[in-house]
Amino acid sequence: MAMTKTVPAYGARAAKSPLEPLPIERRDPEARDVEIEIFYCGICHSDLHKVNDDWGGTHFPVVPGHEIVGRVVARGARARRFQVDDLVGVGCIVDSCRTCPPCRAGHEMFCEKGVTFSFDSLDKARGSWTLGGYSTHIVVDERYVLRVPDALDPARAAPLLCAGITTYSPLRQFGCRKGQSVAVVGLGGLGHMTVKLAASMGADVTVLSTSRAKEKDALRLGAKRFVATRESGALDGLRRTFDLVVDTVSAPHDLDAEATLLRSLGTMVLVGLPPGASSLNAGALVFGNRRVAGSNIGGIPETQEMLDYCGQKGIGADIEIIRAQQVNDAYQRMERGDVRYRFVIDAKSLGP
Ligand code: NAP
Ligand code: ZN
Ligand code: ZN
Repeated sequence: MAMTKTVPAYGARAAKSPLEPLPIERRDPEARDVEIEIFYCGICHSDLHKVNDDWGGTHFPVVPGHEIVGRVVARGARARRFQVDDLVGVGCIVDSCRTCPPCRAGHEMFCEKGVTFSFDSLDKARGSWTLGGYSTHIVVDERYVLRVPDALDPARAAPLLCAGITTYSPLRQFGCRKGQSVAVVGLGGLGHMTVKLAASMGADVTVLSTSRAKEKDALRLGAKRFVATRESGALDGLRRTFDLVVDTVSAPHDLDAEATLLRSLGTMVLVGLPPGASSLNAGALVFGNRRVAGSNIGGIPETQEMLDYCGQKGIGADIEIIRAQQVNDAYQRMERGDVRYRFVIDAKSLGP
């Protein structure tokens, strides 16, 4: 019989209820597993959407967390890729079929047999629901574990496992490069990573934020221009000026106005996942051969590429480290857009 051990975690027992201590079971490492002692776990707005059941279908109790950095403390008999003490990361993906065309192409999130995400996902092999990184330990098949470059501070590296890859991937897909004009809409966790990464690729970055509050930060992060979108006439003069618009907004908002910021043949890529439907007027796209696209995290090989890139360039997230006991306050601040720019839970605060 498979053995498990009980470890501390933080989770929610029902939709919209506060997170609270919630001990969970982790399996003993199987043949190709590594057991990771978690140092830090970032808080993504998707964690909050899941706890609020914004998208429907959350399975409670839920332990969120998919921006995990820690060290290897044990490995299964046939695990070879990592040594005990290696600094490693786990993002959104912990399993997939490995043989379908998307898996073979390194796009495991689109596995034809169904990907297993790191939390609130059915673990088909075991018939249980996955439990995420707001915890002290996690056990993951080594194929889905990432190597975190030593050059990176572990706490600042944690948000790269979701916010980093989710923004690196579309910048690469849509050819972000020197001389390109890129607009970043929403300066939260994903938004601030988009600014850093796009600037590091040589693009000319403009931040579109709801208020002036984050203006100084935007420029420090690498933006050349800042626009407060709720000021009247804010978008006048910006129409037809961007090659790429990266939308990281977590709440419903006006996509038509955003599309008109694109030059002809430009692309608006949606990474934010507001609850409910959004409308888009055909004319906003037709007049200019503009394109609208979506982008979902990134696969395992691209996540490793992103971590190596960030290691070489010295790119980490701007973070506020919190104790697990502060997670409900952090969620409230995130609801208000008051995040600079990622909360990261120090797993030591969860106890032994
Ligand atoms: P976040 O840190 O809370 O940032 C979201 C930002 O959106 C806020 O800081 C705010 O920026 C802006 N915003 C919020 N409400 C707004 C409104 N009503 N109108 C206009 N702007 C508003 O969230 P995050 O962790 O970056 O995640 C952002 C979204 O991406 C979430 O929906 C999340 O679920 C989704 N996500 C998607 C993927 C994927 O694979 N595509 C991966 C991870 C997350 P300002 O203060 O600058 O206005
Ligand atoms: Zn995320
Ligand atoms: Zn597959």
